[in-house]
Amino acid sequence: MMNPSQWFTEQAPGAESAFSLKFKQKLHEEQSEYQFIEIYETEDFGNLMVIDGCTMVSTRDNFLYHEMMSHPVLFTHPDPKRVWIIGGGDCGTLREILKHPSVEQAVQIDIDERVTRLAEIYFPELCESNNDPRADLKFIDGIKWVKDAEPNSVDIIIVDSTDPAGPAEGLFSKAFYRDCFNCLSEHGMVVQQSESPLYHMKLIGEMRDAMSSAGFEHLQTLFFPQAIYPSGWWSATIASKASLAKFRELDSANKNFDTTYYNVDIHKASLAQPEFFKKALGLK
Ligand code: SAM
Repeated sequence: MMNPSQWFTEQAPGAESAFSLKFKQKLHEEQSEYQFIEIYETEDFGNLMVIDGCTMVSTRDNFLYHEMMSHPVLFTHPDPKRVWIIGGGDCGTLREILKHPSVEQAVQIDIDERVTRLAEIYFPELCESNNDPRADLKFIDGIKWVKDAEPNSVDIIIVDSTDPAGPAEGLFSKAFYRDCFNCLSEHGMVVQQSESPLYHMKLIGEMRDAMSSAGFEHLQTLFFPQAIYPSGWWSATIASKASLAKFRELDSANKNFDTTYYNVDIHKASLAQPEFFKKALGLK
């Protein structure tokens, strides 16, 4: 019989399912000013960060999420120079976007400095680009940061946040997308993690509606596997001021940096829309 105390389990509310990882020991836990953060050393997934009971990042599979939150949108924008990450405190998305030579400025705005300080200790590989001269780490509320920003101050906003509850709730609202729209440049794009296509279709539909009513005419949801998140299948939604019909396929095929999951074929495949998804959203 397995000892249940040696398993971390996240239950998916409403889906009557759960995901568990066997762990060797709990390395750390603390209540920060904003959230309850735990770090486990698992048997087979390396270290695991959990915030308010939800899995965030594991050593073993974070590459899927971080690469798919970064490279598709950066290879879709014609010339991404200024990128902001809202959330993303583990610094994995920051590391990926700094692989793009066109990026001149990458600002990570996470409300909770403790997430980054713990990532530096338990996920040092994700933080290896934090001292890049183009990187700027701020510890403030991303909602306020975007609200206060000047027009035309950024090319891409990546919303790498926790689930829509607690401090991240406002990051899924029309008011926030409107503020993003106002501070983005001409071809500006926002990409946001949009949860599981299997479990959270209602949320995806509401997010897309809020993005369009905030002014974004072009939307694209892409799909990728993510073992440690509910259902093991995840999505990201791009909202853009300009057409999303094409991405910079040649640049993607000739990229001069290493990835573990992303490549030009994965990019194309991630854009394929399942039938149930098209039906739920009334897409052709
Ligand atoms: N990959 C993860 C996922 O989908 O579960 C997200 C990881 S990242 C650690 C999420 C970050 O969002 C946390 O560090 C949290 O502090 C941050 N966050 C939540 N609300 C925020 C807000 N309003 N402004 C800035 N950062 C926020």
